[in-house]
Amino acid sequence: MKRINELIDTYKDYPKNGIEFKDVLGILQEPKLFKELILKMSTSQIIENADAIISIDARGFIFGSAISLQASKPMIVARKPGKLPGELLEKKYSLEYGENSLSIQKKALQKYNSYAIVDDLLATGGTVNCVSKILNSNDKKVTGLLVVIELMKLEGRLRLDFPIESSIIL
Ligand code: AMP
Repeated sequence: MKRINELIDTYKDYPKNGIEFKDVLGILQEPKLFKELILKMSTSQIIENADAIISIDARGFIFGSAISLQASKPMIVARKPGKLPGELLEKKYSLEYGENSLSIQKKALQKYNSYAIVDDLLATGGTVNCVSKILNSNDKKVTGLLVVIELMKLEGRLRLDFPIESSIIL
């Protein structure tokens, strides 16, 4: 994971002052290391125990869809406002840098009972907490969370009551 760590760029004060933005997109330019990461994430018990993956807008889609293919698990998405058609289940949440809301297509969610949540990064845990609340309030189970990066000092994992696996802890 050390070599993957070296592919992650840090941008100070983006998207606003005081935030150290961790850019995972460099990983995609090194397909061998990207594959290594996806193979590792795909063999997690969190994925094994789930009927399906739910990945979070937008960088979560990159990792979620690759894991979905590798692990042969269906994937659904949680998206930011105005991006999904049809009947939606929506919830507001607060972010390390602002407020937002996430929506899931009701039709997609109905198909599976348990979900592994996938995102690029865990910061305060507000985003993942929002997704898990939508799932739980619709009688769906969360098998856990898989992220590439966890920002330990923001203590996101203290807000979450399911297993969490992060490949890089910063
Ligand atoms: P949080 O809800 O605070 O755990 O924030 C996690 C979500 O916001 C993820 O979807 C990340 O893509 C994004 N995010 C939050 N903080 C950062 C950061 N410092 N660098 C990159 N992405 C971040």
